[in-house]
Amino acid sequence: MLGNPHRTEQREAGTIVGEEIRARVEQVRRRIAEAAGRAGRRPGDVELVAVSKAVPISRIRDAVDAGVTALGENRVHEAREKVPLLESPAVTWHLVGHLQTNKGKLAVELFDLIHSVDSLKLAHVLDRQGATLGKRVRVLIQVELGGEPTKSGIRDEHVIPLLHACRDLSHLAVEGLMIMPPFREHPEEVRPFFRQLRELRDRAGDAGVGQHLAHLSMGMSHDFEVAIEEGATLVRIGTAIFGERPQD
Ligand SMILES: *Cc1c(COP(=O)(O)O)cnc(C)c1O
Repeated sequence: MLGNPHRTEQREAGTIVGEEIRARVEQVRRRIAEAAGRAGRRPGDVELVAVSKAVPISRIRDAVDAGVTALGENRVHEAREKVPLLESPAVTWHLVGHLQTNKGKLAVELFDLIHSVDSLKLAHVLDRQGATLGKRVRVLIQVELGGEPTKSGIRDEHVIPLLHACRDLSHLAVEGLMIMPPFREHPEEVRPFFRQLRELRDRAGDAGVGQHLAHLSMGMSHDFEVAIEEGATLVRIGTAIFGERPQD
């Protein structure tokens, strides 16, 4: 088995865990490919973001050894500890959790894609940080759909105005929309949320502000296949790869 040669001893101690993560990654990839196939899409149209919040770096390395190329974290400070530890330059880091404006600078430094922009104020902060660092900050807009109980995100009716306003921000690249629907027992029950997000993206296109919205970040361990059938390009999967997290 291919592994990081610098970690032979650690690997031996953690062989079972490493093998189990590899098997889980492979199984998730198979399920992604099958869901894409059902929707007439190619597996390569869907990127797996392994959500590694609360997961120690050794297990994250196991996932990277198993072929994971994108990692998702929900806390900026946790990511600050982990990012320097993972010496895999090919891996991209995604912020999937809520971002406070006072952590904007750190987020821009650490992450390749921020999924959770939910206000014009935050968009301005990130744009300014991008200008300072001379980089374009890649983001998604996190959407709260009508009828959904208190999750973070900007209400759907405010999304198109926000996209309009973001056009003036030259260091911000808005690349899509993200949603975290409420948990429902049966994945079919969240299908309408995923469909509405896709339709909102299409409406933004019709309104002339959505041409660059290539991404729909939707679907987690419980419901990613339904999300892929509805057009997800980024699925954020934690438990199905790393197992249950300690309660947070
Ligand atoms: C934790 C988390 C996930 C992954 O959830 P699982 O159910 O473990 O797959 C996805 N997206 C966000 C925003 C999260 O916070």
